[in-house]
Formats: sequence, C-alpha cells, structure tokens
Amino acid sequence: DTAATSKPLVVITGATSGIGARVAQDFSAAGHPLLLLGRRQERMEQLGLPNALCEKVDVCDAGAVRAAVDKAEAKFGPVGCLVNNAGVMLLGSVASQDPSEWTQMLQVNIGGVLNGISAVLKGMQERKAGHLINISSIAGIKLFPNHAVYCATKFAVHALTEGLRQECAGLGVRVTVISPGAVETELLSHTTDQSIKDGYGKWKESMTEGVLQAEDVSQAVLFAYNMPKRCCVRDIQLAPTNQE
Ligand code: NDP
Repeated sequence: DTAATSKPLVVITGATSGIGARVAQDFSAAGHPLLLLGRRQERMEQLGLPNALCEKVDVCDAGAVRAAVDKAEAKFGPVGCLVNNAGVMLLGSVASQDPSEWTQMLQVNIGGVLNGISAVLKGMQERKAGHLINISSIAGIKLFPNHAVYCATKFAVHALTEGLRQECAGLGVRVTVISPGAVETELLSHTTDQSIKDGYGKWKESMTEGVLQAEDVSQAVLFAYNMPKRCCVRDIQLAPTNQE
C-alpha cells in the first residue's frame, strides 16, 4: 500500500531483530510509514507491517543507506525520525581479540550511525524539522570487562550525539541518545568467545527481576519522539533494576 499517511516517515536501522524490530512495530502501530534497514531482509518482511519499505542494506555502505532513504522519501515523504539502532557487540580482551572484530564494531556502531545521519541530516535542517535518535548503551557511559572496544564505540556514539545536538540546536532538529543496560536480544550471540557468553548467562541469572525486554527500550524511543516538538529529550538511561 503506497497511500500517503499523515504521520511522517520513520527510518529504523537494524530492524531485523531485537530492539529495532520492536521499535518498528511500535511506530507502525502509531500509524507511521517506515523504512526498515538490515541485512536479513526476510526478517523485516516477516514483521508484516503496513506502509513499510524493507531494504536489504548494510549500514556500512553509505551509498546504499542514502539510496534507500531516497526511495522511501519518494514513496512516503520526508523522513521525520531516524532511529540509528543497528549495532554489533563482539566481546573480548584487546590482547586476544581478532582485530577484524574491532573493525566490524567500529564500522557498524560508529560508521553506520554516521551513514544514517548523513543520509537525512541536510533535509531535516532545511525543513527545520526532524528527530535523530541514537541507540547507545550503558556501555557508552561505563566500562565492563571484555568490553574495551565495544565501549569505545558506544562512548563515541555519546560524543557524536552531543556534538550533533549542539550543531542542530537552533535548526529545529531534535537529537536524542538512549542508553539501555542489558536487553534480551540476539546481540550477545555474535560474540565468538564461548566462556564470555557463558559468564554473561550466569550473570543474567542473578538479575532476579530479569533483564530489559526490547519493548522497554522501544517505549523510551517513542517517549522521546512523542514529546512536544519544543522538547528535546537529550538522554535516556534505562537498565535492569538489579544491574549495578
Ligand atoms: P540484535 O542483535 O537483536 O539486533 C542488532 C541489529 O543490528 C539487527 O537488526 C542487525 O541486522 C543489525 N545490524 C548489525 N550489523 C548490521 C549491518 N552491518 N548493517 C545493517 N544492520 C546491521 O541486538 P539488539 O536489538 O540488542 O541491538 C540493537 C542496538 O541496541 C545495538 O546498537 C546495541 O548495541 C544496542 N544495545 C543493546 C543492548 C542489549 O543488551 N541487547 C544493551 C545496550 C545497547 P542484520 O544482522 O540482519 O543486518
């Protein structure tokens, strides 16, 4: 269905699983047309959302991100919100980790965020309207064992979000960073060190109230977006009640 809706287009990177998939469902339920980006296209299609363009795009490919945004804007009108959510967490010690894992985290978690911003920022500033929401992490605020490079990428997301917010102040564009603690998703599954994964599993059992669910983070995203346009929610942190 290509009929225009009255709500603005929302772009979500990493919409194939976890937090991104839930954010897509919640914006869709609120009546927004969507551009969903990720590498596993079938997972986006399976969400079965109306007015959703699902594009198989690697966020490291700036040209592909831009082309997808252009295609979606031609169909649904200008982007009102970008949720930069795609990310990878490959835990390991700096001494033992394969440097290709550092490269992947740097390229996706920092480069991917910049590619998303680059595809929409100029238009938002010209229209003096829009909202950039970056998903960082509590790991963007404090350090954890075996997280040195992952934390470095998320600290970078905090720095570039704040720099961008300052640049956008006065231009009518809102910029938000959201920092979840542990969330039940596929994120840890890509870590290659089995002992680190086992340790995380044990730690999770100590969270007697459970870790966060994707819907908890999605609610924070929609809260920030739904505040009046005069109000920029700059920073949200949320974590399991029993996380240190
Ligand atoms: P998931 O692994 O479930 O989701 C990650 C998403 O990122 C997937 O949709 C994946 O899609 C996408 N992605 C990864 N690499 C690329 C790429 N190169 N190009 C396009 N998309 C990509 O984990 P979460 O939902 O937990 O992660 C979402 C965000 O939340 C991440 O930024 C993560 O760092 C952050 N976060 C997660 C926490 C947690 O405990 N789970 C805590 C704090 C922050 P595909 O593989 O199909 O390309």
